[in-house]
Amino acid sequence: MAERTLRVTGRLGLHARAAANLVRVASKFQSNITLKRLDNSVEGDAKSILSILMLAASRGTELLVVAVGSDEQPALDAVLNLFARDFDEPEPVKTEQTVKAKEETRCKGLGVCEGVVIGRVLRLQDGTRDVYRAEIEDKDLERERRRFRAAVRLSRRQLEAIKERAENELGRGHAYIFDAHLLFLEDAKLTRDVEDCIVKERANAEWAAKVVGDRLLSIYTQINDEYLRERGSDIEDVIQRLLANLTGEGRSHPKLSEDAVIVAQDLLPSTIAELDLNHVRAIATDAGGWTSHMAIIARGLGLTSVIGLRDFYHRTRTGDQIIVDAQRGEVILNPSAGTIGHYEFTAQASYVFASVDGPGERGPVVTQDGVSIALRANVELPTEFEAVRRFGACGVGLFRSEFLLSRPGLLLSENEQFGSYRALAETAGPDGAIIRLFDLGGETGYELSDRPEKNPALGLRAIRFGLKNEKVMRAQVRAILRAAKFGPLRLVIPMVADVGDVKRAKKIVAEELAALQQEGVEHAETKIGAMIEVPSAVLTARKIAAEVDFFELGTNDLVQYTLAVDRGNDAVSDWFRTLHPAVLLGISQTLETARDVGIPAIVCGEMASTPAYVVLLVGMGAVDLSMTPALIPRVRSTLARIDTSEAAEVAQRCLGCATADEVEEIVRVEFKSRWPDVFPPKALPARPVEG
Ligand code: PEP
Ligand code: MG
Repeated sequence: MAERTLRVTGRLGLHARAAANLVRVASKFQSNITLKRLDNSVEGDAKSILSILMLAASRGTELLVVAVGSDEQPALDAVLNLFARDFDEPEPVKTEQTVKAKEETRCKGLGVCEGVVIGRVLRLQDGTRDVYRAEIEDKDLERERRRFRAAVRLSRRQLEAIKERAENELGRGHAYIFDAHLLFLEDAKLTRDVEDCIVKERANAEWAAKVVGDRLLSIYTQINDEYLRERGSDIEDVIQRLLANLTGEGRSHPKLSEDAVIVAQDLLPSTIAELDLNHVRAIATDAGGWTSHMAIIARGLGLTSVIGLRDFYHRTRTGDQIIVDAQRGEVILNPSAGTIGHYEFTAQASYVFASVDGPGERGPVVTQDGVSIALRANVELPTEFEAVRRFGACGVGLFRSEFLLSRPGLLLSENEQFGSYRALAETAGPDGAIIRLFDLGGETGYELSDRPEKNPALGLRAIRFGLKNEKVMRAQVRAILRAAKFGPLRLVIPMVADVGDVKRAKKIVAEELAALQQEGVEHAETKIGAMIEVPSAVLTARKIAAEVDFFELGTNDLVQYTLAVDRGNDAVSDWFRTLHPAVLLGISQTLETARDVGIPAIVCGEMASTPAYVVLLVGMGAVDLSMTPALIPRVRSTLARIDTSEAAEVAQRCLGCATADEVEEIVRVEFKSRWPDVFPPKALPARPVEG
């Protein structure tokens, strides 16, 4: 055995290029060569780049180098020599540039959930699909490993080509990083672990690569040295490349080990649902609109978020410092010391502000003129059940059941669903819960078909999906009927186009009811409602009302489909006008029909969570609202201070307008003069910016 201690002297520590050089030198020898940190005993294999980088050895770190084998002395000498030469760093000038203080950059977006967070970036590369988990039979395990090796070979060829181009076009100094990528790719720590995972977990190669990649990334997020931590982005790149070559697409959901601000181009709701919320402090995304499901989930979870940042993702690196200011709808990358000082103060103040909106009264709210209005909760994830009680909701007005399915292709069995619905029935209390049949497809990214749709919002979504996939729908209906034994549950059919959809869905419910009866399985009947969120349903609402027990107005989709504006597309967010008179007319007509026919109409969607909009809804006759639980106290305190006849006067004027601008102007002027204490200017629609 030959050994020596040394101190890392290079300014950037054992960073990727140095580590790549070390691997190259160490690999020439037979002996095993290890590096051990003297301060924390973490050990690394000198022939594995990942292992070296995991040491996180920044400048000044003391290491014990040990070589064991037939050529141990020359091996040790070669390694010591390399350290002494500071790894033959070729371009010190560029190194200088790399470490120079990064400039503070500000970017404007849309704040969708309040709060100010100071943290570190964790980039999530977007992908079009989740990585799925498949069970591999014993006889196919070898084939799965070969498939993985083929993906590694393909990735290597791609990286070699990229490296060559970078060398030719940018020079050697810029191409070195792809050496590091190549070493990551073929590092035993990655390849051996993935193959082990395939065999041990009998998992498909995509899944194994994701699990191992996430593990490596999570170790990286713990590294204290800023520069070294940034290399997490490189590992992320390599894993993404591998996944892309295995599946044609893919992305990572790191298991987080320290608080992080997730930065992504786009996030599927399922991704947010899968994040370790103990460690996610905020979200910043390029895409997204106010009513996108990403925003809805973020609000439901109380996650500070700024979305619609357009091209922010590409400017970030994992490990960058970031401030997410949802109050101002702004993110600040690499903030200066002065900016941080200012925000540290505000971040504390925002906790105080948040507590004003905390839990308080329960049950319906009564307006100044004695009208009782039910305030229910929208719930997406079982983790939100507790909030229903905490914020005094009249039960659950909308359970978006599709969020139970965390991955495409992964449907829950009837029994698994039964467990969740039963828990919901028991949590919701005497006011009960309304479970929406799976609203799959559309922008939620839960599409289960392999064939991507050209226009998913107008495609095989919601009840259309259920009617085409009866097995899935029947299992869900049975689970709901069985759970209804444990508390008052109602069932609502999403996105019906007309009464035809309702009749077909009701037939399936009736058949499953009869089947449960015949099988002697405990169950209870449920009321059945229709989501009114498509213009054709609004226009034929009277026919639909004859077949259902209640209406549920989905204002998010009603805006999207009435105005033909994609709710998740920030490029058209200027056209997403909740207060467009066409939308208000649709809502008003539907409420009137429900009143005439004598059935309840619950208004859900983001409109019902927003105080100024809520007053108009009540002015149009709404008495049953469902919203993000944390926003209930605010809506409650607003409605308790208004008179519905006054609200009706304002709503009537708005219904006569020609454009959203006209409606918003009426709202600004009327609300300010009628309820100056309830609506400070910031709580009212902003004046349009000219030009
Ligand atoms: C809506 O469309 O308003 C609604 C409540 O449903 P979702 O947002 O899930 O489409
Ligand atoms: Mg909807």
